[in-house]
Amino acid sequence: MASNTGWVWHEAYAWHDTGTAAGYLPSGGWLQPHENLESGDSKRRFAELVAVSGLGDELQRIAAQPASVEDLLRFHAPQYVEKIRRLSADAGGDAGELTPFGKGSWEIACLSAGGCIALLDAVWSGRVRNGYSLNRPPGHHADADLGRGYCIFGNAVVAIRNLQARCGVARVAVVDWDVHHGNGTQGGFYEDPSVLTISLHQDGNYPAESGSTEENGRGAGIGSNLNVPLPAGSGTGAYLSAFERVVLPALERFRPEILVVLSGFDACNMDPLGRMMLHSNSYRQLTRLLMDAAERLCGGRLAMFHEGGYSPVYVPFCGVAVLEELSGRRSPVVDPFLPFWENLPGQRLQAHQEAAITRAARLVEAVPVPA
Ligand SMILES: [Zn+2]
Repeated sequence: MASNTGWVWHEAYAWHDTGTAAGYLPSGGWLQPHENLESGDSKRRFAELVAVSGLGDELQRIAAQPASVEDLLRFHAPQYVEKIRRLSADAGGDAGELTPFGKGSWEIACLSAGGCIALLDAVWSGRVRNGYSLNRPPGHHADADLGRGYCIFGNAVVAIRNLQARCGVARVAVVDWDVHHGNGTQGGFYEDPSVLTISLHQDGNYPAESGSTEENGRGAGIGSNLNVPLPAGSGTGAYLSAFERVVLPALERFRPEILVVLSGFDACNMDPLGRMMLHSNSYRQLTRLLMDAAERLCGGRLAMFHEGGYSPVYVPFCGVAVLEELSGRRSPVVDPFLPFWENLPGQRLQAHQEAAITRAARLVEAVPVPA
């Protein structure tokens, strides 16, 4: 019998075409064209390891339907939505900043947001207890009127606004462990006390100008946005400490009715766009901590949406570890990299990392408590 864990993946997600580039910069001048670091590879290989290992048979497949324009407009500006549709129907273009896309990416971006909507719906309605949407393109950098950092539509904002509009959910919490700051998700709920947003990220990575602890919400939303900028080089010890001292106590105060996790695997030891040290077992432990919190606070309701992760070789092992934990089923997959990385000295919490966590922890007592 399948587990109570939902799984969203659509082959078209791998067809979203980010073209050639030199890493993440457009080629030209001294930059010879090469692959874009954001491609379908890491996602497709994650999905294939899930299938080949047999783990996929233990999960409940949830079909993604394209998000409607009405869904997108709950967050995005009409002229921006129209621009993406028009460019995609033509020859593609750039959604704004470092977000290239090819012909046909409109349909795929709508399907990416739609995968998140479908999973959130399945978790909220109790069809599954928790689940993972391996959707692409990612969403957490997208602003209302600008695509940024490979993100066309703000998948999480669109999905949460959809759930709130249809089901009247009063309190949603978002924990974003992608190595980059979740600026778009932060912006989508910055003045809104109904959604607690917490981002753990590498300090100053991307976007360079956002993600400080001072960004704590505005107006009615004051206190309901927490940033934990961690120094480059942070490992499992730093992340576990940040969870213990910031993420978990903030969730306990806020008492969400459902927990959304924005899962990027670019804080792993092998990522070309991050400088952190996590491995599959770190992600397994972080997943367990969030599942326990969801169990205590909101009947176990937890939905994960995929964000970044640019190591085609290693992302699949992080993903399988998270899915094993969510579903309670073990696959025969063994992470062959784990023995190299698990016991590196840098995995332990360092004093300068602890100081950064202490700065963020001071804000926990200002997280709004439900009336
Ligand atoms: Zn990222």
